[in-house]
Amino acid sequence: MSESNPHTVCIIGGGMSGLFTGAILAKNGYQVTILEKNHIIGGGLQSFRRGDAVFNTGMQVFTGYEKEMITYNFFKYLKIIDKLKILSADSEAQEIVWLDRDHCYLLPKGRQAYEEYLIKNFPHESDGIKDLINEVFKIGHTYDYLFLNKIQRHEENVRYAYMSAYEFMSQYIKDKTLLSLFAYIGGTSGHSMETMPALEFCMMLTLYITDSHRFVGGSMQLVDALVEIIHQNNGVVINNTKVCKIVINDRSLSSVYSEDGRRWEGECFVWACSPQILLSISEEKIFRPSMMERISKYVNPFTGYIINCKLKDKKFPFINSSVYISKPSDDTHFPPIAFLFTQPLEENQIWAQTMDIYIPATFDGVRKWAGTIVEHRGDDYNKMKLKVANEMIELVSKYYPKIKDAIDSFYVASPLTIRDFYGNPHGAVYGQQGLYVPIKTRVKNLFMTGQAVQNQGVAGIATTSIIVAETILGRSLIEEIAKV
Ligand SMILES: Cc1cc2nc3c(=O)[nH]c(=O)nc-3n(C[C@H](O)[C@H](O)[C@H](O)COP(=O)(O)OP(=O)(O)OC[C@H]3O[C@@H](n4cnc5c(N)ncnc54)[C@H](O)[C@@H]3O)c2cc1C
Repeated sequence: MSESNPHTVCIIGGGMSGLFTGAILAKNGYQVTILEKNHIIGGGLQSFRRGDAVFNTGMQVFTGYEKEMITYNFFKYLKIIDKLKILSADSEAQEIVWLDRDHCYLLPKGRQAYEEYLIKNFPHESDGIKDLINEVFKIGHTYDYLFLNKIQRHEENVRYAYMSAYEFMSQYIKDKTLLSLFAYIGGTSGHSMETMPALEFCMMLTLYITDSHRFVGGSMQLVDALVEIIHQNNGVVINNTKVCKIVINDRSLSSVYSEDGRRWEGECFVWACSPQILLSISEEKIFRPSMMERISKYVNPFTGYIINCKLKDKKFPFINSSVYISKPSDDTHFPPIAFLFTQPLEENQIWAQTMDIYIPATFDGVRKWAGTIVEHRGDDYNKMKLKVANEMIELVSKYYPKIKDAIDSFYVASPLTIRDFYGNPHGAVYGQQGLYVPIKTRVKNLFMTGQAVQNQGVAGIATTSIIVAETILGRSLIEEIAKV
């Protein structure tokens, strides 16, 4: 590679995975072109302003930001830490509110504190709790890249990949209330305890116990920092460019076309959005037949409503933790009634400026408007959204009585908004997470990244992006990232 003729990569999708992968490749001498269908870059990493209020579209809190862990070292490797305003969660990082019991569990961060808290609340399960946490950390730590280790084979993990989180936990815990307490872990990735693989559960619980961080001022600051790296290395990030056609000859992708007829080339291509979209625009056998079938049949039913509430000045305190509101409390299927996050005022972090309430739901509630387009969905649709929002605010006010008076105005996104924003079929919030598509395809210069490959969220997507970049570069990066 010479400076005048660098390697080129074209990345389709300007969400977290496209940007992470693009930033790593740009830093390593690739000329990067990112094509994004939306007007604004970022996908689930995007935040937006209404007046002076900042709302996150997706990403609220992230993990792996302790020293010697993936997110921290990855941001350091990209040299972006100074550009980010990051706040560590309070020591009680997760609040599980059970409305039917009028009770709240404040789960602390840090392994010892977490374990002690559970034992204090469930003393009759103390041996089981110790054994469970021990096993969870042991298995969680086999996700090598999260802890900056070279990938090794972990044969013993195979059985945890096929065991449900519920079955796994039941080996140690008998108390139904305690079992259902852990269900928040599944809820954050679109799983019930029965559908979540034990392996993924252990990884996520390890991360959640270890740390929790957020951006003050919205997640867009990370998008801006990543775009800057790509620009600095002669790359481009192009919005309003929806890819609708790909041209493959002799198992090699030569170009992609955007809806406006423009043609985009690259030495290699990275597909950083839904694999279902990829299959819908190509007749080629991009994956082996069983994977093709799996992708086309896959339905991730986990979508929802998001209420972005702008709060009145200094009327509601900033809650520096993640709040999960649930009912009934002995249902291990979860899903929670709602997740609730506040954003602090940038200057003092005492008062909340906004509250984002995310309500898991299925697509069924909006199916009758599925054929409509944004802003033309009709009065019925608007009334339905208002009803969902009012009922939820009423429910939240049972636990936070001051919230009703504190809300200045709110906006509601439905599963249709989510579908159209991400381009994910059925408005799946976590895309095709759970598909585990391979990074390498049958097309030699087409690679897959994003939440359909491995795990979602900052730590998960950083891991996948590093692996994709390593595959393209043909050399390992993890030692370098571990050393920074
Ligand atoms: C409500 C919600 C809450 C979340 N909370 C958290 C959290 O607290 N912590 C956390 O770590 N993670 C959280 N996540 C998950 C996190 O946001 C996602 O895992 C991550 O943003 C996914 O990144 P991605 O690049 O794989 O996909 P996406 O963000 O979906 O990006 C894909 C991009 O591709 C674009 N695209 C689609 N089709 C095309 C096309 N044909 N041509 C060009 N571009 C196209 C889309 O517009 C999109 O911008 C949350 C997600 C949601 C939705």
